[in-house]
Amino acid sequence: MPTYFVLLGAPGAGKGTQAAEVSTRLGLPHVSSGDIFRENLKNQTELGVQADGYMSRGELVPDDLTIAMIGERLSRPDCEPGAILDGFPRTVAQAEALDEMLREWGGKVDAVAYIMVPEPELVSRLSGRLVCRECGETFHKRFRPFERCPNDKCEGQYLYQREDDQEETVKKRIKVYLENTAPLIEYYQAKGVLVEVNGDQAIEKVTAELLASLPVNGSA
Ligand code: AMP
Repeated sequence: MPTYFVLLGAPGAGKGTQAAEVSTRLGLPHVSSGDIFRENLKNQTELGVQADGYMSRGELVPDDLTIAMIGERLSRPDCEPGAILDGFPRTVAQAEALDEMLREWGGKVDAVAYIMVPEPELVSRLSGRLVCRECGETFHKRFRPFERCPNDKCEGQYLYQREDDQEETVKKRIKVYLENTAPLIEYYQAKGVLVEVNGDQAIEKVTAELLASLPVNGSA
C-alpha cells in the first residue's frame, strides 16, 4: 500500500525544508505544490500563466486548477510508493479531493504533521528568505547568509527573494493561511491522523521530532 504524509503549517513554518529531508530519509518523492507552480511559471506554461497573479498577490490558486495539477503529479510512476506532500492540501475542498483520489488508488493520508511556529517568527523567516532559481534551495539573509548558491551544480547562481516573500505579501499569506488552511487542522484531527511538531527549534531537531512522530514502518 502506498504511504502518504502531509506536512501542514503556516507559510514559513519550514514545510519545504523538512519535506526535502524526510523525502530523502524515507525514499518517497517530495511533492510541493508551490514548487510545481513556480516551475510552471518559469517555463511560462498555461498553468504557470494562470497561477501567476494569485501567487504574486499571496492568494490561493483556485482549487480546481490545483487539484488537477496535484492529481497529475501523484499519478506519475515515481509516486507509486506514495509521497511527502508539502503545501497541498491548503483548503478543506482540496483535502476532500485528495482523500477521494487516494481512495481510488487504494491509499489514504497516513499522517499529517502540523509544524507549529509562532507568527512573529514566521514573518521574520519569510521576509529574510532567499532562494536559488536553479535548485530551489532556501537560504536566509541572517541565518544562512549566502549571496550565491553554494551548490556546485548551480555554478554560483545569485540568490533571489521570492516576490511573495515581501513583507506585505507575507502578511497576506499568513492571513490566507489562517482563513483557509488552519481549518484543516480540525479536519485531520477528527480523522485521528494529526501529529503536532514544534517547528520553533533547530532544523535537525524538527526533523528528528517529525520522523519520530510519523507512523513509519508501522511505528509511532
Ligand atoms: P508555497 O511555496 O507553498 O508557499 O506556495 C506559493 C504560492 O503558490 C501560494 O502562496 C499560492 O499562491 C500557491 N499555492 C501553492 N500551493 C497551493 C495550494 N495547495 N492551493 C492553492 N494555491 C497554492
